[in-house]
Amino acid sequence: MRRPFIAGNWKMYKLVNDSVAYVQAFKPLVVQSSHCDIVIAPAFTALKAVSSKLEGSNIAVSSQDVAGEQGFGAFTGEVSAEMVRDAGASYAIIGHSERRQYYGETDALVNRKGLSAMAAGLIPIVCVGESLNERDGGQAQTIVEQQLSGSLANLTPEQASRIIIAYEPVWAIGTGRTATPEIAQQMHAFIRSRVKAMFGEEVAQCVRILYGGSVKPENITSLMDELDIDGALVGGSSLDPASFAGIVNYKDRR
Ligand code: PEP
Repeated sequence: MRRPFIAGNWKMYKLVNDSVAYVQAFKPLVVQSSHCDIVIAPAFTALKAVSSKLEGSNIAVSSQDVAGEQGFGAFTGEVSAEMVRDAGASYAIIGHSERRQYYGETDALVNRKGLSAMAAGLIPIVCVGESLNERDGGQAQTIVEQQLSGSLANLTPEQASRIIIAYEPVWAIGTGRTATPEIAQQMHAFIRSRVKAMFGEEVAQCVRILYGGSVKPENITSLMDELDIDGALVGGSSLDPASFAGIVNYKDRR
């Protein structure tokens, strides 16, 4: 049985004070929500303040990225996984489509970032997903398969069993256009079959696969009803505490 996992990606939003005010408002709304793992990914600058406020709570913290290089070094502007861990995070989002699209991140770099994250004791949330052109051209599975084999190269089955995979079709991110539960389920089942081919049945059965792309309180329940959808990575709708709590507490909507 895979434990549901709901993560909010704040992207480049919220100053430190706004981030702290958010978690103070959000915490009581999910204090009873023991049915799933809850994760918030603020900007690097707010990681420490947010994780301090969440100490002892049922909410964990993620960064939105980490450097491919480990530890310390002359890499101006980069933030290593050790630094992210030191700031109180337990997870790191890796290979988000905005990073692939706007900053040219390749599967090889995503792979290095994932390995660096795990070396520092962080759990990577590895994002994959096709563009609209790729889907319209019948390439969706081929693209996702390439991203998976490149991004997850060199992981041991034990490491692979601990990562989180997020399927985020680029055409659904920030567009208000959610994949139907059927389209998402089809890709999630495909991703699980690829994980099985790479790491074996046991890993495929325990790895959690999140859906991301315009998830809202109104559509989370039908997505979570699908067999291979284990949770959600939420952008826009995670920016408001009540809206994100409405997603986390999807069971109450039944
Ligand atoms: C995201 O940023 O990972 C995302 C899925 O964004 P949104 O929910 O706004 O589509």
